[in-house]
Amino acid sequence: MELFECSAADLARAVREGAHSVAEIVEVHLGRMDRLEPVLSAIVTPLKDEARARAAALDIALARGENPGPLTGVPVIVKDNFCTRRIRTTCSSRMLENWIPPYDATVVSYLERAGAVLIGKANMDEFAMGSSTEHSAFFTTSNPWDPSRVPGGSSGGSAASCAAGYAPLTFGSDTGGSIRQPAAFCGIYGFKPTYGMVSRYGVVPFASSLDQIGPFARTLEDLLLAMEVIAEADEKDATCSRALRPDFRKALDVTDLKGKRVGLVREFEGYDIDGPIVDALARARAALLDAGATVVDVSLPTVSHGLACYYIIAPAEASSNLARFDGVRYGLSAEADSLIDLYHRTRKAGFGPEVKRRLLTGTYVLSSGYYDAYYNKALKVVAILRDEFARAFGEADVILAPTTPTLPFRKGENIGDPIKMYMSDLFTLPANMAGLPALSLNGGYSDGLPVGIQLIGPRWGEMEIFSAAAVLEKALGAPRLAGGDL
Ligand code: GLN
Repeated sequence: MELFECSAADLARAVREGAHSVAEIVEVHLGRMDRLEPVLSAIVTPLKDEARARAAALDIALARGENPGPLTGVPVIVKDNFCTRRIRTTCSSRMLENWIPPYDATVVSYLERAGAVLIGKANMDEFAMGSSTEHSAFFTTSNPWDPSRVPGGSSGGSAASCAAGYAPLTFGSDTGGSIRQPAAFCGIYGFKPTYGMVSRYGVVPFASSLDQIGPFARTLEDLLLAMEVIAEADEKDATCSRALRPDFRKALDVTDLKGKRVGLVREFEGYDIDGPIVDALARARAALLDAGATVVDVSLPTVSHGLACYYIIAPAEASSNLARFDGVRYGLSAEADSLIDLYHRTRKAGFGPEVKRRLLTGTYVLSSGYYDAYYNKALKVVAILRDEFARAFGEADVILAPTTPTLPFRKGENIGDPIKMYMSDLFTLPANMAGLPALSLNGGYSDGLPVGIQLIGPRWGEMEIFSAAAVLEKALGAPRLAGGDL
């Protein structure tokens, strides 16, 4: 077994036992990145020198008998909207192409404290708006299972690089599905925690009431290990809970789901879903029944309005959040004759077409006269949806659902049709609007493409999700490494 095939847990163990140096582990992963990057284009900024220097420092610390933490020596990659001190943070936008933050996102410092080695910053849709990475201002990332297809988005570079073995753990942000949809398309785990579980401090905001940060991994153990490191209170994010988090890895021991109720959402049955996804859901349902769970129907009558409401609320918040990119304070600053001219020219040159579409929509739904008709009404629908979820979780402990309606689509297939692109998030965005935790996991393969399925839990119900996932991993197997034949 090559080192790039190993899990984060195994690498950390090997380092602790002295079987491999951090330098060796980092070199192997940088080599894997070098070999596949010409095909995949997953990384905006590789951090080779920084990673080598950090590895050397960690090896010295280990030789001195120190144990810097549970991820010591584990290579990690973060989406390029995570602020990194002295390292450019672009959001895959011309606006921030050369912007260097003066501080680290909290998640980045928690990873560093745990001994992880940051080896690169991953490509994404510009400002996290999109489902394919085709909206990156720099390049499109390829799906490691079939490079003619997209890896999903917006955290497509993080998903592709984890699936292909650049790093066993990578990180993304999820506002409407941007961790789970690319995890499904790349055949790995991708988890969006309960809103407030993980600090958002230092991650460039898109829609602050919906954004959460989470990990990608190829084993459940690694995913839970990553959660134990990043899910901590943080006084710099007022929405981050101060409560103690569970020992997530305890869920790995679960083999029995007796007494647990798995909900299937009645309204989702009416949607057009690719056959292999329906089959994967049936396999998962059977495995959960085998472990002693019962299956119940739950109803979310308002869920059909979810997509429309999301595309009011997310652009509204984005139009406010992205107002800061004015040519004065951050990144790009265009040549101009006056202040107003500076705003116009900077924003015209700095933002791509999808970001402009969202900002126009968002400004419109917040403008006087339309605020009540669109924005306020969407908020009311979200309140109803939250109630419906609360009722559903009175009847079920966890919900089993598709992650996406389709398997990974081809590059170019949806780029000309925004609504078709938005449809990719049909099953993921309800969890964001209700603030719920949700996991995408691999449910098998169809003609060489991975098939994702989703588990949604009640607020702070991550252990319900992870227990069901532990049973599913034992029954269906862990994800395979992608990119073997590239
Ligand atoms: N694809 C969705 C969008 O374009 C979700 C993005 C995300 O979660 N960041 O808004």
